[in-house]
Amino acid sequence: MAEKHLSDRGMLQTMSRVKAPKATQEDALLVHSAYLVDTVGLMSDLGSGELGEGSYASPYLLENALIAVGGSMKAAEIVVSEEARHAFALIRPPGHHASVSTPMGLCYFNNIAVAVKHIMKRHGIKRVSILDFDAHHGNGTSEIFYTQPGVQYISLHEYDYENFGLGHYEEIGYGEGKGTNINIPLLEASPDVSYKTAIERVVRPVLESFKPEVIAVSAGYDPHYADPVGNMNVDSSTFWEFGHAVKEVVNALGAKGSFWVLEGGYNPLVLGPCIETSLQGLQGKRKEKLDDQVIREVEDELVDANNQVFDKVLETLAPFM
Ligand SMILES: [Zn+2]
Repeated sequence: MAEKHLSDRGMLQTMSRVKAPKATQEDALLVHSAYLVDTVGLMSDLGSGELGEGSYASPYLLENALIAVGGSMKAAEIVVSEEARHAFALIRPPGHHASVSTPMGLCYFNNIAVAVKHIMKRHGIKRVSILDFDAHHGNGTSEIFYTQPGVQYISLHEYDYENFGLGHYEEIGYGEGKGTNINIPLLEASPDVSYKTAIERVVRPVLESFKPEVIAVSAGYDPHYADPVGNMNVDSSTFWEFGHAVKEVVNALGAKGSFWVLEGGYNPLVLGPCIETSLQGLQGKRKEKLDDQVIREVEDELVDANNQVFDKVLETLAPFM
């Protein structure tokens, strides 16, 4: 449905298309344990059952999960080989909750993590930033790169300050990786203005200070107000802001480019428009007013509370910038 939307809007005609190749099990082993790769295979053969919290087996699971990994690797390769400045992997299942050995939340293999390791190990890339704007914290990606100084992980996500949990701004990385894990924990129902402020005050400065050769984007569209899973309050205009910011940072740093990997986004009616605005931002097109961009109530208190979160994030990261 997202593909049809992009085609109907003339977006596909502005890009080159490549079929996602299937990755090998060795590719998945760049990140994952043999135990995980093996159990995804076994559960796929069984065709049903639960592999981990919120992750279920189905026939052809292994094959589909390896195609999602392969599509992400291909998008990364296209950018690294300078065939295109930016690439988008329109794949499923998503990946950012999958850790080394544990599937979680519809994620089996961590597509973006495998793609990042692939270009670092096999294409000589030394510095990569991963920007994750899915409504949920990418715990898998964060864990995989937590001690690695060459990979910066930046996540904007909903955070429950009453009950706490993973994705707090004090999780900044460990050992040589200290200062490279950046959590921007937003309150429930965060609006477009909070995302815009987060991009300006935190995302752009930390990217510019890290100076990545490549930016990898975990593009989750579940912060959209009409998403049945996420609880945020943004519309497709916010995803233009992400596309625009990534393009500007790539140009300012003289980086090779960015590759985007689809994560969440569970309302098929708005997924297409959200991907469209991201791509328009990346392509340097102006922000367009799409039908989903309607006026919604925004509480000043919520915006103020998020601004205080940004202060805390910046205070915590100051020694590393
Ligand atoms: Zn999500």
